[in-house]
Amino acid sequence: MGEWFIAQNALTVMAVGVAFFTLLYAGTGLLSVLLSRVVLPHIGHGRRLDPRPVTGEQLRRELRASASSILIFGIGLVVPWGLLRLGWAGLAVDPPWWQVAIEIGVLFLWNELHFYLNHRLLHTRPMRRFHAMHHRSHVPTPWSTYAFHPVEAAMLGSVPLIPMLLHDFSFAALMTLPVLSIALNNLGHSNYEASRDAPARGWLGASRRHHLHHACYHGNYGFLLEVFDRMFGSVIPLDAADRNIARHTGHGTTEVSR
Ligand SMILES: [Zn+2]
Ligand SMILES: [Zn+2]
Repeated sequence: MGEWFIAQNALTVMAVGVAFFTLLYAGTGLLSVLLSRVVLPHIGHGRRLDPRPVTGEQLRRELRASASSILIFGIGLVVPWGLLRLGWAGLAVDPPWWQVAIEIGVLFLWNELHFYLNHRLLHTRPMRRFHAMHHRSHVPTPWSTYAFHPVEAAMLGSVPLIPMLLHDFSFAALMTLPVLSIALNNLGHSNYEASRDAPARGWLGASRRHHLHHACYHGNYGFLLEVFDRMFGSVIPLDAADRNIARHTGHGTTEVSR
């Protein structure tokens, strides 16, 4: 598969890239909607985090911005392809399964650190305007996952480049990265906490943490792991969005405060 990828011409790589990211976005988005709006509420597992309505205008904006990000990610696939063609990066040949598993673990950790650093950068004064597009969604949806300004899309899309320059990864591990990334992205933007506990503990708490990031703006810059926010003192208190939500819904504080 890796040899096939390297042998293609640039136009084919871009076309395959756009098709790949379109499928990822649509497939994981639909799965997330199905789970968080139909299946899990039906069986009474978990809870919606933010009851505020999402307008059709927000959804259209998220879809438009995500389409532009898909083009950037898809066309941008020529960069790792170019690194391989130039011999600046290589692919592991017939690696054992455990090597692929370790590589996926390393890429996951790198993805968390890369996201945290870029996200912090996007919240600085000079970069803030490039992140405003994503934050127009105060209530995240599964369609917010790729709703980025082109500059943010290019920054986040650069995630495999440094690891590829440092190590010859297997093609399978590299391909897992965008799949893992959007799966986690959907968890964070689902506006649904799929857990018996409220607040959820561990990785299931990612949806509440990222919902709070959208509702409050400052803090919770990490994604699945809370470790970097703890290290840098940027954790948002669990009840931080209660007053805002209550103001919009006309109800008292939500169970978010627990
Ligand atoms: Zn942000
Ligand atoms: Zn977000």
